[in-house]
Amino acid sequence: MPEPILNISKLEAFYGDFQALYGLDLTVDEGEVLAIIGANGAGKTTLLRSIAGLMRNGPDQIRYRNQPIGALRADQVAARGLALVPEGRQLFPSLSVEENLIIGGRVGRKGPWSLSKVYELFPILDERKHQASTSLSGGQQQMVAIGRALMSNPDLILFDEISLGLAPIIIKDIYDALPGIVGGGMSAVIVEQDVTKALAVSSRVYCLQDGRVSLEGASSTVSREDISRAYFGIE
Ligand code: ATP
Repeated sequence: MPEPILNISKLEAFYGDFQALYGLDLTVDEGEVLAIIGANGAGKTTLLRSIAGLMRNGPDQIRYRNQPIGALRADQVAARGLALVPEGRQLFPSLSVEENLIIGGRVGRKGPWSLSKVYELFPILDERKHQASTSLSGGQQQMVAIGRALMSNPDLILFDEISLGLAPIIIKDIYDALPGIVGGGMSAVIVEQDVTKALAVSSRVYCLQDGRVSLEGASSTVSREDISRAYFGIE
């Protein structure tokens, strides 16, 4: 068995005195799409923020390619080859689409992803590249956020609430683009509210509940009953 690309062990995370994650264990294998599901407040965003260097964690609680990254800053994590597509997209509002993408290329590493490759993936962004990012629809802004992350040439891309608030047709466009993103060997972690979608695109799934893993399994074999129990804590 190859070593997992990401190894999370006994991860704890705090907002001041409030504990959001309790001893969470999780692995991501090379090249896999891993789904994270769970109710509001379960800790999904906190988990991704921890991986991306936006929380303060113990160094060994998160290991990437067997190196401790838990205590690194976000820019140092990006330089190792991890990128976050944050919830709410968080684009630079005063900058154009293209400028937002270029900024993504200033962190991280050199690699196959470039402006032209992002425009190939999302042709609408090529048409709108000189427009202010805020003038785009929510779905198009999500494409910019994904493109910006890809411009840093990650090996592991983290999507927080990939389809939240987007129209179904745009969600389809974004999921249709996924094989073109991970097909080159990139691994992905996807936080997704839509459980059916999450299971359809992933090889494995974790459900979080109150800052703990309540279920882990192969997406093709976990039962709806197990998911309901893990999601809502119904015994
Ligand atoms: P959602 O689907 O609502 O985004 P989530 O599973 O991503 O939920 P988190 O956002 O990680 O959950 O939140 C986990 C817990 O941490 C929640 O109880 C939340 O209220 C708390 N929390 C999140 N951000 C902060 C913060 N900045 N300050 C204090 N508590 C926070």
